[in-house]
Amino acid sequence: MSDNWIALIPQNVDSAVTDDQLNEAASLFQDIAPEAEEITVINQSKLRLFDCGGNLERIVCPHCAGDIELEWWRDQVEAGYEEGDDDSENDGESFNLVELELPCCHKHSDLSMLSYSWDQGFSRWGIDVMNPDIGELTAEQASKFESVLGCPIKVIYQHI
Ligand SMILES: [Zn+2]
Repeated sequence: MSDNWIALIPQNVDSAVTDDQLNEAASLFQDIAPEAEEITVINQSKLRLFDCGGNLERIVCPHCAGDIELEWWRDQVEAGYEEGDDDSENDGESFNLVELELPCCHKHSDLSMLSYSWDQGFSRWGIDVMNPDIGELTAEQASKFESVLGCPIKVIYQHI
């Protein structure tokens, strides 16, 4: 059995949010996806990766527009994962974003600057919904979440 998740995170990793905004977004998601198995609010002090799992098809370099091998990316992700610690509220999963030399053009960038298809990203907070069973969010729904959360968001569709 495979699972599908929809995660909502800010487009800009520095966007702040309050617990009230997150809880309101979670209940909005509950209204949109009443069949969802689980709706998790994440708000932790460290960055974590919200990846698209098996939906990852292509990564493009922001400098030279060259393709970046998925295998290279997976190696960097493995290296960037940090063990959980006590100040994280959820499972303690966190990610250390560092400047890397890219294999395509040898320019420097961190993993959050790369262009992913399907989209994925890094954030300290977000809403993660398991098996929402709604397909994709409509543009109207996404903009509702943006007004609740107070910033532009990324919608990440994860397939596992
Ligand atoms: Zn490049």
